Amino acid sequence: MASEIDRSVDEQVASLLGDAGFRYSTVRRRIVATLLSTGKPLTNYQIVESDDSLVQSSVYRNLVVLEQVGVVTRLTTDSEFARYELTDRIIEHHHHLICGGCGDIADFSLPASVEQSLNLSLRKAASKFKFSIDDHRLDAIGICVSCQ
Ligand SMILES: [Zn+2]
Ligand SMILES: [Zn+2]
Repeated sequence: MASEIDRSVDEQVASLLGDAGFRYSTVRRRIVATLLSTGKPLTNYQIVESDDSLVQSSVYRNLVVLEQVGVVTRLTTDSEFARYELTDRIIEHHHHLICGGCGDIADFSLPASVEQSLNLSLRKAASKFKFSIDDHRLDAIGICVSCQ
C-alpha cells in the first residue's frame, strides 16, 4: 500500500517531470509514494511487490523516465539487481550501508559537523588536482543484521 505523498515532494516531482514534457501519471505517483514511504533504496521487484496495482514492465519503464528527469537515482552494487531511490533534490543528503550478503541498502545520515569536516577534507584533497567538488557520496560496505 502506497501512502500519501508529501505535498512538497509531489510538487517537485511534478515540476521535474513537467519541465521535461512528461506527465505525472498514476503509476509514477505510486512509485514515488512507495520509495518515499519505504525510506530506503528498492529494487524494481520490491517496488512491484509493495503495491498490488503495479506491474513489473510498467514500473521498469517508468523508473527509466523518473531517472532521466532527476527524480530517482539508480544505485548499482555487487548485487545482481539495481536499486532505486529518490534523488538528493527530493530527499535529504544521506549515505548508504550496503550489505555484501543480501545486497540490501539502508540510508543513514551523518551529523552536520561530520558532513562539514568531511567536505573540508575532500576539498583539501581535491585542491591538489585543481578539482572543484559539487557533492560527495559515501557508502559503508559490510554485513547487515539479517545476514550475520
Ligand atoms: Zn544482508
Ligand atoms: Zn554526506
